[in-house]
Amino acid sequence: MGGRVLCYHLVDAGIGGPVDLDRPSFTRHLDLLASAGHVRPLLEVARSGKGIALTFDDAFANFAEVVWPLLWARGLAATLFVPTGFVDGTHCSPLSTARHLAPCSWSQLRTMSDDGLELGSHTMTHRNLRLIDDDGIDGDIVGAARRLRQATGREPSSFCYPQAKRSARVERIARRHHELIVTGGGGVIDPRRPWRVPRVSVVRGGMPLELLLRLPWVPREWLGDRVRQWRR
Ligand SMILES: [Zn+2]
Repeated sequence: MGGRVLCYHLVDAGIGGPVDLDRPSFTRHLDLLASAGHVRPLLEVARSGKGIALTFDDAFANFAEVVWPLLWARGLAATLFVPTGFVDGTHCSPLSTARHLAPCSWSQLRTMSDDGLELGSHTMTHRNLRLIDDDGIDGDIVGAARRLRQATGREPSSFCYPQAKRSARVERIARRHHELIVTGGGGVIDPRRPWRVPRVSVVRGGMPLELLLRLPWVPREWLGDRVRQWRR
């Protein structure tokens, strides 16, 4: 089986919609992966093209309250992508359908980071970087890394494009600051390109995890559509 980087958002957050998984399904995923011994840190999966990495986007308080205790109890490695402006309260929720959900606090993020959670950068503003000029992209990426460093004492381990919006120009600028970068849906992990690690979105009512892990690769169009439609 080839490597996979799974992308989750919320678990049992009460908003419905594809990116809010119910707790029994999520727990079943974790138990399945833990018993198979598949789960590895993101960097290891990106470098080897083997194993499963768990990633979570947007740093909602739901992660600290529901998700992290479940991961911690099973000793599973994970990466959380943090839009720092959302945590600071200077920018609005990364999900328009979850405006009422609070972010993690810096104190929660620091504690989880001390306990082994990898924190990745998800920019400050969570804007579509394709719509911003070069200096704006650079500033957004540099500012997020600085804030994470200042708040946790650690460099962000990796970078994730907001809304999975990438282009050659955006990628060129992101690579100035981050070696490990995850992208949107589908495709095979190429260990020679850690700056373009594809992820698979795991969504409510989506493809069963067992099947998703067994496919040699996942067509792009199978993945993002449900999430994109729901975000609109
Ligand atoms: Zn996001």
